Amino acid sequence: MATVLVVEDDEFVRSAMIRDLTGRDHAVRSAGRALDALRDIAHFPPDVVVLDLGLPDLDGAEALKMLRAISDVPVIVATARDDESEIVRLLRAGADDYVVKPFSGDHLNARLEAVLRRARSGSPADTTLRCGGLAVDVARREATLDGTALELTRREFDLLAYLCARPGTVVTRKELLSAVWRQTYGDDQTIDVHLSWLRRKLGESASQPRYLHTVRGVGVRLSPPAG
Ligand code: CA
Repeated sequence: MATVLVVEDDEFVRSAMIRDLTGRDHAVRSAGRALDALRDIAHFPPDVVVLDLGLPDLDGAEALKMLRAISDVPVIVATARDDESEIVRLLRAGADDYVVKPFSGDHLNARLEAVLRRARSGSPADTTLRCGGLAVDVARREATLDGTALELTRREFDLLAYLCARPGTVVTRKELLSAVWRQTYGDDQTIDVHLSWLRRKLGESASQPRYLHTVRGVGVRLSPPAG
């Protein structure tokens, strides 16, 4: 159960979402405009925000930017367009996940729970990120795969921890460069080389990935193996 703020101007979609989320025992608040949502978030921080990108008063990317200026609350953007470059842009602008309209209540709820899990696993009580058989203890800087310790260099650890904090999300090379290498400019090859080393330590290959999936032309995604 979580406090969810639904930001959606379409009354029909909004009431359907409220009904569905309430039925799943979430406490739901709603706003039809971005500025109302920002005010609400500033006063009563929710656990998670579902943000429609087509709002009457602000462009979605702009709304997200303003929201990020005042809050670290997890945000799932709801977009009508299954446009990869747009989605990547929003994820880089601070969205935690996205759903493409139309989406089912089950789908939204699954995304919501995953985002909340991630947000909560980042709390000081438990500093271990988990993804399938991978466990990455950020505070102790220890990583295990299926219970066996991984011998990682500092950079490999940082890379794995960053990806593990965003399971299922495509992370661009540029984002990795800035977050892990703390550089705004650099060589894609540097990242690819480190990814291939990390891959080897995870016992997998680019052609037969288990955890590390290359998304051609975009970046890399860490997901647990299916099944
Ligand atoms: Ca809309």
